Amino acid sequence: MDYSIHSRVHRIPSFDTLSCSVWIKRDDELGFGISGTKLRKYHSLIPHLIRERYDLVSVLGGANSNNVLGLSQLLVENRIPFKLYLKGNPNRPLQGNGMVTFLIAGQHRIRWLSSQEWPEAGELALRENTGRVFVVPEGASCPQALEGTLTLFQDIKQNEKEAKVHFDHIFIDAGTGFTAQVLAQQLEGSCQVHVVCMADPVVAFPSSVIIYRPRLAPSFGSVNTAVMNEIRRMASHEGVLLDPIYTAKLFYEARHVIKEKQLQGNCLIIHSGGALTLLGFTHST
Ligand SMILES: *Cc1c(COP(=O)(O)O)cnc(C)c1O
Repeated sequence: MDYSIHSRVHRIPSFDTLSCSVWIKRDDELGFGISGTKLRKYHSLIPHLIRERYDLVSVLGGANSNNVLGLSQLLVENRIPFKLYLKGNPNRPLQGNGMVTFLIAGQHRIRWLSSQEWPEAGELALRENTGRVFVVPEGASCPQALEGTLTLFQDIKQNEKEAKVHFDHIFIDAGTGFTAQVLAQQLEGSCQVHVVCMADPVVAFPSSVIIYRPRLAPSFGSVNTAVMNEIRRMASHEGVLLDPIYTAKLFYEARHVIKEKQLQGNCLIIHSGGALTLLGFTHST
């Protein structure tokens, strides 16, 4: 098994209750420009892309996607020819992730798609290009990302050993749900997994998983004052930065569920990173 991707865990006492000690897993520390769970996916996806020498790699996603932003960096670095198929309006000023993605990929590698064209994105990416094309689906949730994703479970086991603790509850956020599904399957029976779904998952979770929709700004990508307040709270109480799209909603949900359900034992919340997303919202509140 591959132990090469390791992030630490530490306590976040402002989340504790009388019956529960709360920990955070710092997958956000795995990379500056690439969020943690994505870095794990790329650990097997990028070697595949290098090995197969495709004529073109087409990456599908929203203009502010953490996956598009993260993968673009590694595609440039590895001299892999690529094109981004982005859902969005090219006339809207880019900020946050979108701005950084533009910086990395450049205009010539971006193909904008309207919401009417979007359902056909995968087809278009194949039809509009010649040669061997590899289409990376939204969230890079593809079989070639599985091996890398498996490292999260191994790493948590390593954390338990090092910290001499057993996690009774684990909270994780989900976009496509790929990462959470893989983790939940591996953890099945050894702890209770709680998944907070930011969008409609494209996978099915094991029946033992408890699934939530975030009560803060539940529609994907939406941000309000309460989300910004959670970011502020976490920054000032724990010195940890959250992003408004995924992790602020995850930590808010976890904090309240731990209290309301009076969870017992040790609880781990996985911080998957994505602080660059924060840049898009600094002026909005
Ligand atoms: C991409 C991403 C997710 C979602 O991962 P999935 O495997 O698609 O569920 C969750 N959190 C953060 C911070 C992400 O960047």
